[in-house]
Amino acid sequence: MVIVMREGAREEEIAEIVDLLHKVGAEAHVSRGEYRTVIGVIGDREMVMQMPFEAYPAVERVVPIMKPYKLVSREFQDAPTVIRVGGAEIGGGTFTVIAGPCSVESEEQVVEAARAAGEAGASLFRGGAFKPRTSPYSFQGLGEEGLAMLARAREVTGLPVVTEVLDVRDIELVGRYADVLQVGARNMQNFLMLKELGRQDKPVLLKRGMSSTVEEWLMAAEYILKEGNHRVVLCERGIRTFETSTRNTLDIAAIPAVKRASHLPVIVDPSHATGVRELVPPLCMAALAAGADGVMVEMHPRPKEALCDGSQSLTVEGFRAMMDELRSLASFMGRKQA
Ligand code: PEP
Ligand code: MN
Repeated sequence: MVIVMREGAREEEIAEIVDLLHKVGAEAHVSRGEYRTVIGVIGDREMVMQMPFEAYPAVERVVPIMKPYKLVSREFQDAPTVIRVGGAEIGGGTFTVIAGPCSVESEEQVVEAARAAGEAGASLFRGGAFKPRTSPYSFQGLGEEGLAMLARAREVTGLPVVTEVLDVRDIELVGRYADVLQVGARNMQNFLMLKELGRQDKPVLLKRGMSSTVEEWLMAAEYILKEGNHRVVLCERGIRTFETSTRNTLDIAAIPAVKRASHLPVIVDPSHATGVRELVPPLCMAALAAGADGVMVEMHPRPKEALCDGSQSLTVEGFRAMMDELRSLASFMGRKQA
């Protein structure tokens, strides 16, 4: 953090702030400019942020610059994190596609979807067995039965499986079947769950909360890394804004912003960001162009029959066509597509 002193602040006023910082064990680096003096502060952020510096008339403003997250930051690790799971790779230059239905409905449905996903070039398969639904009367997912169907789809196609863990009590169960554990937008700040996910060894796909800032999202990832699990994939899935023409607003700027701040891979979910099937392919292209490490899309063999999110699910043909477009753009950009 930096304390910017008012123009003309006197030496004793500056010394008073420096003394105060020393008293709480922080270092103060005083830099005297032509008009203003600024004090760079290094110390325990929580402690320093609680100090009432702005109550001192000689202080103009306090600018927090020290990043609150450490293990996820580029300062901690400059090289991009690459996560290998099964035959798939996420991060480090590859553009990875995860596809599958919103929810697991039957073994036939997931096996058919996984086959189509794999044949069209997806590297991982997705499907929810535990569904976070706005209404308690909506389909809640098949639970463990659904997890077993996902495992069957993996057996048939070889694609590693990504599925959501909705409750801290289910981590062990979901981990027995899945390859990547997804934390949904609604659970991004379920800190107890994040800590537990940090103590198990499966990679975690951490969705951005619908009303969370990039910093809050990175702090959520920090919880997982802090407990020892460094295999975290961040997933931008749209945030709540005043716009109603799409389900959420895809924050495309979050991709390069996160890439600058963190070494973790970032993927995009345009299905939940838009809620509109036709908008998914152009936003996948935008994600690739903006430097994302991949996308996760909903795809259903028969979207009209889907029990959840049919209107945003690509058809198999639509998914294939999109994969062709992505391949051309990836090769134009010199990106590997897994
Ligand atoms: C999902 O991916 O199935 C899902 C529920 O997404 P989100 O948590 O982003 O709403
Ligand atoms: Mn969905």
